Amino acid sequence: MEKFDIAIIGGGPAGIMAAIAASGTSRVILLEKNSSLGRKLLMTGGGRCNITNNKPIKQLLTFFNDKNFLKHSFYSFTNEDLFSLFDFDFIEEDDNRIFPETEKAGDVLEGLIDKLGNVTIKYNFEVKKISEDFIINDSIKADKIIIATGGATYPQTGCNIENYSLTSQPLTDIRYGLSPLVTTKDLSDIAGVTLYDVVVSYKKSKIRGNVLFSHVGLTGPAIINLSNEISEGISYNLLEDDPEVDLEIAIDLCPDYTRENLQEKFTADFQIKGKTMLKNYLKAFLTNSFISFFLDEIGLDGDLQLSRVDKKSKNRLIENLKRFTFEISDFNSSLAKITIGGVDLNYLNPKTLESTLTAGLYFAGEVLNVHGPTGGYNLKIAFSTGYLAGFSAGEKHD
Ligand SMILES: Cc1cc2nc3c(=O)[nH]c(=O)nc-3n(C[C@H](O)[C@H](O)[C@H](O)COP(=O)(O)OP(=O)(O)OC[C@H]3O[C@@H](n4cnc5c(N)ncnc54)[C@H](O)[C@@H]3O)c2cc1C
Repeated sequence: MEKFDIAIIGGGPAGIMAAIAASGTSRVILLEKNSSLGRKLLMTGGGRCNITNNKPIKQLLTFFNDKNFLKHSFYSFTNEDLFSLFDFDFIEEDDNRIFPETEKAGDVLEGLIDKLGNVTIKYNFEVKKISEDFIINDSIKADKIIIATGGATYPQTGCNIENYSLTSQPLTDIRYGLSPLVTTKDLSDIAGVTLYDVVVSYKKSKIRGNVLFSHVGLTGPAIINLSNEISEGISYNLLEDDPEVDLEIAIDLCPDYTRENLQEKFTADFQIKGKTMLKNYLKAFLTNSFISFFLDEIGLDGDLQLSRVDKKSKNRLIENLKRFTFEISDFNSSLAKITIGGVDLNYLNPKTLESTLTAGLYFAGEVLNVHGPTGGYNLKIAFSTGYLAGFSAGEKHD
């Protein structure tokens, strides 16, 4: 039987960071079921790795489901601490999103692996069993264990819904997060078209951003972020059942105008520009390649001259510009970027990430019931909680 001070299960960003943090004080083994570390990390940010978000911590915390729990991790390991691990710089893009200047997720992974120093790494090692006295798969004994097995989505990266049973902790419902949505309507004709800076809404949730049409439905940052609100609004638990989705979302295609503004503008413009065809006039309001789909959907003829658009049609146009709806029938779950839910935070010490039920058992990363929107927020969770779990487990080692 091999013996270690700390065994870390899962070699994603959370597990790797935990190993880095603990390795200064402890004999650490990192157990990864794949033949390499950080498979999901390599996919992040479209391969560019949106590694974190640079908002000040206080503001940043408001974007997560549990800011009180996460604040200890975020103050223990800041973005500056993260940047200092690498020998290249980072660039800041819109909405404080941070990327490596090399624009390669592979460079981030390599930089992290370089810091693993004396950590023992076992590849192709899938943890299936942890005994009460911390013997793993009947072959490795550790004084402490950090579970960093990630979420339930993207199984091709090593994640797996079955992993939650390894945690032996109370769990919340497990749901899809940051997922594209499937529409009842066939959108293949406009697949690839983007709507810029629109507002998507579901019940009381409203999110402004871009929407992208795919062959099966809707995606893009605004939709992906809205999917979290939708997922949390439906009662289901992936540990037991799949979601039943049957709902409507609306897109405000002209968020800078009220209905009254549009009414006034159209009334004036339709007189002055009476000979202009409707489809050409709408270019000032809508993405070009979306106009004919939009007009077909609302039953208006794009070749109609503005002077011939009657009052009823004008009202229909305005109503649909402000509230263009889609029936949603499912999550495009194979592309859900994160898992919502996980290890119940009520049974963990937020200052150490140790279980309050099992001494010596720690958790980090997506396996926890913490999540954020797109924009570097989820890797922020992984790195900060990974560091705090690793540091705490290492510090308390005797
Ligand atoms: C396509 C895509 C793009 C994304 N882009 C971004 C982005 O740009 N910015 C951002 O902030 N977030 C992004 N995310 C989310 C982010 O990647 C995750 O939140 C993050 O990887 C979670 O880190 P983790 O270490 O907790 O889990 P993971 O990265 O999932 O790592 C878990 C590891 O544990 C291993 N493992 C699991 N079970 C076992 C077991 N039983 N035994 C041994 N090993 C096991 C897995 O093989 C895996 O290597 C993206 C996600 C996806 C899918």
